[in-house]
Amino acid sequence: MPENTLRHLPSIDLLLRRERIQTLIREMGRENVRDRLRETMAEIRRQLAAGRNGHEHQPVDLTEQLAREIEAALFVQIDRSRLAGVREVINATGVILHTNLGRAPLGPRAIQAVGEAAAGYCNLEYDLDTGKRGKRGTGLVATLRGMLGCEAAAVVNNCAAAVLIVLNTLAEGGEVIVSRGELVEIGGSFRIPDVITRSGARLCEVGTTNRTRLADYEKAINENTRVILRAHPSNYRVTGFTERADLADLAALARKHNLILFEDLGSGNMVDLQARGIRDEPTVAQSLAAGAHVVAFSGDKLLGGPQSGIILGQAALIDRIKGNPLMRALRVDKMIFAALESTLQSYVRGKAIEEIPALSMLFTEKEQIEGRARAFIRRAKKLTRDRRPDCQWELLDGLSVIGGGTTPGAGLPTKLIAMQSASLSAEKMEEHLRRQAVPVIVRIEEGRVLLDLRTVFPAQEKIMLESIAAMLAAQVS
Ligand SMILES: *Cc1c(COP(=O)(O)O)cnc(C)c1O
Repeated sequence: MPENTLRHLPSIDLLLRRERIQTLIREMGRENVRDRLRETMAEIRRQLAAGRNGHEHQPVDLTEQLAREIEAALFVQIDRSRLAGVREVINATGVILHTNLGRAPLGPRAIQAVGEAAAGYCNLEYDLDTGKRGKRGTGLVATLRGMLGCEAAAVVNNCAAAVLIVLNTLAEGGEVIVSRGELVEIGGSFRIPDVITRSGARLCEVGTTNRTRLADYEKAINENTRVILRAHPSNYRVTGFTERADLADLAALARKHNLILFEDLGSGNMVDLQARGIRDEPTVAQSLAAGAHVVAFSGDKLLGGPQSGIILGQAALIDRIKGNPLMRALRVDKMIFAALESTLQSYVRGKAIEEIPALSMLFTEKEQIEGRARAFIRRAKKLTRDRRPDCQWELLDGLSVIGGGTTPGAGLPTKLIAMQSASLSAEKMEEHLRRQAVPVIVRIEEGRVLLDLRTVFPAQEKIMLESIAAMLAAQVS
């Protein structure tokens, strides 16, 4: 009888005195645990009232039995909320700039710089030379000027914010000309036409999806035109019968009509990627050299730094952007400045590929990955030998993905570790690995779990190996 069972529900006070819950209280605070316990109890009470059976043969101590059930349900709930907090994961997908996994990991120097900035005070807006109030980002701007020869720079929260503030400052109330082949959606909420509307400017589309000529831009220019926007088609390519105006020609056109040429580069690539087989990823320097007046890009894509949006260009234009009240809303904090400056210093010292993880991963040769993968399989087999004899390991040729909207369709040749078991489905393995204390994120293809060590830090291999061994040893199927 449900009513009968309900009468045996333990009190909150009784539950709070239980040993495991006492441990939880020390970890999470008494009120917090009590509140969660109330939620869990309410759920169990609902289930009982709905006539859930299972207690027909009443155990000797029904209250104790219910207390155990509530305790178990509480721990399930807490585990789930722990998974939701930001935590380290192992990225075995081979996608280097994985937006869902936090894009670019920082290198040791950048991490140290962030830690120092975070732990104490710093000269964020203080001029150590004069002892007076200084400007945010002075050092960073000097570094960018030295690296790229640009006149001025500004930093905001991300590239989307950069595009918004540039257009709001330079085109509000006027028109922005964009090729129909460049009306990009970056994912979810960032769409070029919507950002233009939000900036207070009007979109003027020219050309067609596959072909837009210089003359198309010229014909559209009128007394309301303020900006010509060139957007990098990050995550798609128009191929076949195509034509695109040359950036230098667009710059000349803009100068002739006293307009501003603004390039949204997306990726912020600083190095020549031709050797990696990537030909259509322009560098920031190329964009500036072609004559773009203002250029914007992300800090956490190919640049390999923290989430941020970098704006470079003519001093007069950057000054207007910095004077926009939106700047205060979009600016970044000391930790981002520290990480970004340190990342850029790696470029200045000529150590970018060694020190910036995203670039190290991008430049890792397939042979090197293969060597690590072979050693990994050897160790995995040794650890799991007798536990699940039906588990098969293979090395496959495959592709790693750069991600972050860089070179869609292209990839970096890699060696993949493929794992397959007749008694454990790939989906079950994927879920098991995802629920570890340090979750491992993998790919599934054709019923196999695939691991790409390109994006796994060597220090993470052991943890991953142990998670796999534990999974294969467990009696799950
Ligand atoms: C990625 C991208 C953006 C958005 O950058 P976030 O830093 O993610 O805000 C904008 N424009 C282009 C062309 C991009 O590739």
